[in-house]
Amino acid sequence: MNQSISRTLFEKAKTFFPGGVNSPVRAFGSVGGTPVFLRSGKGAVVEDEDGNSFIDFCCSWGPLIHGHACDEVLQALSETMQNGTSFGTPTRLENELAALVINHHPMVEKIRFVSSGTEAVMSAVRLARGFTGRDKILKFEGCYHGHVDSLMVKAGSGLVTFGTSSSAGVPAALANETLVVPLGDTAALQEVFASYGNQIAAAIIEPVPANNGLLLQEKSFLQTLSVLTKEHGALLIFDEVISGFRIGFSGAAGYYGIAPDLFTFGKIIGGGLPVGAYGGRAPIMSCVAPEGNVYQAGTLSGNPLAMAAGIAQLKKCLTEGFYESLEAKTKLLCAGVNHFCEEKNIPLSLVSIGSIFWFSACSTEVIRRADKISEKGVSLFNRMYHLMLERGIYFGPSAYEVGFVSSAHQEDQLHQAIEVITGTAEQAWKTIR
Ligand SMILES: *Cc1c(COP(=O)(O)O)cnc(C)c1O
Repeated sequence: MNQSISRTLFEKAKTFFPGGVNSPVRAFGSVGGTPVFLRSGKGAVVEDEDGNSFIDFCCSWGPLIHGHACDEVLQALSETMQNGTSFGTPTRLENELAALVINHHPMVEKIRFVSSGTEAVMSAVRLARGFTGRDKILKFEGCYHGHVDSLMVKAGSGLVTFGTSSSAGVPAALANETLVVPLGDTAALQEVFASYGNQIAAAIIEPVPANNGLLLQEKSFLQTLSVLTKEHGALLIFDEVISGFRIGFSGAAGYYGIAPDLFTFGKIIGGGLPVGAYGGRAPIMSCVAPEGNVYQAGTLSGNPLAMAAGIAQLKKCLTEGFYESLEAKTKLLCAGVNHFCEEKNIPLSLVSIGSIFWFSACSTEVIRRADKISEKGVSLFNRMYHLMLERGIYFGPSAYEVGFVSSAHQEDQLHQAIEVITGTAEQAWKTIR
């Protein structure tokens, strides 16, 4: 595969940006090699600057549920931009996107638009603290919530620990307000609430943890979390930046039938433009300025282009049978790969929920915790990665990233992907054993 233009661009980019990128995983650090510089996409296919094309399962890390350059989204954007790109006043489009969400998501009563998932989480955490008058936040090891200071923390060595910051520049005082427990560990959950319950403003979780592998949780664990937060007067925040509008329109909350107090959204809700949102129960949302005293604002919040893209995208999600068909496509892909690997005794399987899937490798059990991800499995993926790329399949460049199927993926493309994934798995596994 000729990557010479991508290589040249990356060398130049390194003179402009730290590590040559504007977001770290893009640098291909964990799989090695040169990042692919993409220049266009249509449907499920993207093309790089060297003219190589790939079937894309990264889909801009999740937002593009209808694939690249979706006609309805492009049309909404081109119509909207004729009228200008930003006003800094309320607009009709904000009402429209809000109504789409609130009318079709039974648990969102009020919403506020921001410009990224990180901003949504940061604001929801502030709101939870303002609403409860408490400072501590509970998070789960292996969940990612954007680069919010107080959530850039990892667990220490005990069952229940105060966070230690996972990034330089996060004050210890802030990390100290964050409690960290493992996913899927009910005993740890009970212990943390027994010890700190009345100091916890909110527990925040990705109900479908999908940023560090796909660590599917048991419903009973999420239910226990919901009950404990209620009992202790803490809020429950579902960070559905990935799972929102992806696992069905009402996301993981609808899937599991568990109503959190607050949601955070991002990715899909903006149709590929920079949007985030937080929302939930009206009495809590009423604490946000100017109605309440929790301050949060944004110059480009509710930006008309972003709203128009989000409206076009969510409308398409609401068409009859949309999520069923998307899930069926994902199952086809996963079943094809899993069947082959089973027959050939290759310890690789694709686990999935809705249209999110993940390469789970070298483990005999379902992986529900970050510390159960196998290192050997990671090396298997890393060896497969460039082989798959050369054969025209693009995934997020890390074994810890999930893949996404969009409604634009066609059956023949999925069959092609199955052939490439299984072929490269067989080839790579030989070199690891
Ligand atoms: C992507 C993501 C974020 C951060 O969103 P950005 O738009 O990248 O700031 C937060 N939480 C979850 C669960 C995410 O997947």
